[in-house]
Amino acid sequence: TRTPVNVTVTGAAGQIGYALLFRIASGHLLGPDVPVRLRLLEIPQAVKAAEGTAMELDDCAFPLLSGIDITDDAKTAFDGVNVALLVGARPRSKGMERGDLLEANGGIFKPQGEAINAGAADDVRVLVVGNPANTNALIAQQHAPDVPAERFTAMTRLDHNRALSQLAKKLGVAVTDIRKLTIWGNHSATQYPDLFHAEVGGRIAAEAVNDQSWLENDFIPTVAKRGAAIIEARGASSAASAANAAIDHVHTWVNGTDEGDWTSAAVVSDGSYGVPEGLISSFPVTAKDGRYEIVQGLEIDEFSRARIDASVAELVEERDAVRGLGLI
Ligand code: NDP
Repeated sequence: TRTPVNVTVTGAAGQIGYALLFRIASGHLLGPDVPVRLRLLEIPQAVKAAEGTAMELDDCAFPLLSGIDITDDAKTAFDGVNVALLVGARPRSKGMERGDLLEANGGIFKPQGEAINAGAADDVRVLVVGNPANTNALIAQQHAPDVPAERFTAMTRLDHNRALSQLAKKLGVAVTDIRKLTIWGNHSATQYPDLFHAEVGGRIAAEAVNDQSWLENDFIPTVAKRGAAIIEARGASSAASAANAAIDHVHTWVNGTDEGDWTSAAVVSDGSYGVPEGLISSFPVTAKDGRYEIVQGLEIDEFSRARIDASVAELVEERDAVRGLGLI
């Protein structure tokens, strides 16, 4: 039998954690023949709730789940970790300034980066879900100098999936008919879902849509503001779809993208497409041999250029703010 893969989930007692853990334990993260050992990290006041979730996990008698540990100590949580899903973050509360938000999250992601640096397995892969995800990932990465930078990523796969679904509806096609869609930039309202490289039945998606007004005034804002629309409708933020996207992100990372297709993920920039080196920004990426790689050589027209630049400018501002706070 195979040795279990250590999967650490932070914020495990939260909404996303509740939607995520059962799918990890049932084999959807890594595959139906890979046993997993779960490590749940929570803040002390939420450990009891995490224990409740663990009781339910026990009660599923998942054949692939070889154990669950619960802790409020980052060092313990990340010791030997192979896959780290950083979901827990400090939400913005009423009246909170952006600097306060970044500072509170620095207090979470700095020690987590250090703990990953100290104890993670050689093949560790990190996905940050907790917002502001790109900058939280940057903070953790900067405090893990011994881990290859490419192992730190942030999630834009939910935005990608939302865009796939909106486009499929508009064109009356299946999501599986769409290839090469891209989310560029920050996981925020400035993100840019790009239909100028996406393909539908061999045609460029923007041409198949042939409706610039829909693209600008409907599609882009619908994708970028979908989270708020779900809160408005459901009375709670999206959780199952966020968990699903986290599963997709790691599954693709490990198992690869299909030939002739790519996906979206926020990865450390190598300077491609004018995105400053070192920023964790969303790009079109392929996955092969367990590595995400930025798709090279795409022509970027003026419309896309302006939107990519605006989102990247926001990431630069966030980076400069955490630098100013001494968090990186
Ligand atoms: P959720 O599980 O709903 O969300 C967790 C994080 O994911 C938030 O930062 C949220 O950002 C983010 N997120 C990213 N994408 C999405 C999306 N599409 N939809 C919704 N959220 C998204 O939060 P809960 O409050 O239910 O749970 C958080 C848990 O984390 C709590 O149990 C808390 O105790 C724990 N925590 C743990 C820490 C640790 O382990 N060290 C540190 C801090 C908190 P946004 O706020 O922008 O919605």
